[in-house]
Amino acid sequence: MAKNGERDSKRRNFRVATEVVLAGRTPSAFEGFVNTPIFRGSTVLSPTIDQYLGKKGRYTYGRRGTPTTDALASALTALEGGAGVVLTPSGLSAITTALFSLLKAGDHLLVTDSAYFPTRHFCDTALAKLGVETAYYDPRVGGAIEKLFKPNTRAVFLEAPGSLSFEMQDVPAIVRAAKRHGAATLMDNTWATPIYFKPHEFGVDLSLAAGTKYLGGHADVNLGWVSASEKFFPALKDVHGTLGLCPGPEDVFLSLRGLRTLAVRLDRHMASGLKVAGWLKSRPEVLRVLHPALDDDPGHAIWKRDFKGASGLFSFVLQPDYSAKAVAAFIEALDLFGIGASWGGFESLAIPFDCTKLRSATKWAPGGPAVRLHIGLEDSDDLIADLERGLSQLAPS
Ligand SMILES: *Cc1c(COP(=O)(O)O)cnc(C)c1O
Repeated sequence: MAKNGERDSKRRNFRVATEVVLAGRTPSAFEGFVNTPIFRGSTVLSPTIDQYLGKKGRYTYGRRGTPTTDALASALTALEGGAGVVLTPSGLSAITTALFSLLKAGDHLLVTDSAYFPTRHFCDTALAKLGVETAYYDPRVGGAIEKLFKPNTRAVFLEAPGSLSFEMQDVPAIVRAAKRHGAATLMDNTWATPIYFKPHEFGVDLSLAAGTKYLGGHADVNLGWVSASEKFFPALKDVHGTLGLCPGPEDVFLSLRGLRTLAVRLDRHMASGLKVAGWLKSRPEVLRVLHPALDDDPGHAIWKRDFKGASGLFSFVLQPDYSAKAVAAFIEALDLFGIGASWGGFESLAIPFDCTKLRSATKWAPGGPAVRLHIGLEDSDDLIADLERGLSQLAPS
């Protein structure tokens, strides 16, 4: 361990809150400044024709990497524990890049029925057009996924918990089945982040996430990343370069800044989220709360076995006697919960949702209208008071 947090070859292992402070920083390379600056650039000049033709310089072209993107990619590599990371301009492009790196025409792909909807859309449109067949599986399938494999099943896509419906997945059981069938596994880990769950430690080959959410943490960035194990990194890096993906330098810098506070922010999101979830459970208007860290949640045993924490995103189901109009009026009446897509910022959000049309392997029948909350960094008692006021105005219709 060199001075100022820089790495040397005798790297010590630190706990994750220390890791996010140290990872990807090299002040000595930047005149002692704590943070790697924003490098803006396309052209990288070579001192000689020989170096230009031989592409011998560390950097060759802005799209292929800069000291700023390297800082974030190396920090995320340390956090994920894989062989390397590629950065993409959005979480969705992390998903599409990871899938492109694994699949070819004639392949069969298994995707969890609870997947983030744009993942499903990509599989059903772009991948289908290229001759890849997608089949969806019940997220709670566990080891029974075994019977869904075909001779041409190339990959299994996991996401846990589902980011609307919050079913957990038995990652080790699914990974074991995939390995037996020679299929790769990839996981959308946006909800937990590698702070609370490290897919590679459970044998997952490609771990990806939307940095747009908790890494950025301030609702001002779009970014994604994919981490791959040794065996899968060369193909991932190759496809990433072929597709020409490079996030903007400002977004990379903001993601590095977000990384430094990621562990403390998540701890607060988790604590406040659990407090609000527990309170909602006690309310007569609420039928049930979908949050795997609650001990009566169907996914709780798996969450407890495999995850180190929970983020601030969960859903709840209202009693069936409330109309969509009444639910809309309830959400609109809240002062502290914005209405909007995305999550993982410092601010709280609330949206109504219905998975009915997003499912093919399972049936969505939660028993009443569903609402998803993102619990931000506001005081949790203020959030509860806001929800209490909103619920008290909710009228059966
Ligand atoms: C938001 C989200 C994405 C996509 O991220 P973008 O940056 O919006 O493209 C992917 N997966 C999950 C689970 C998400 O919530």
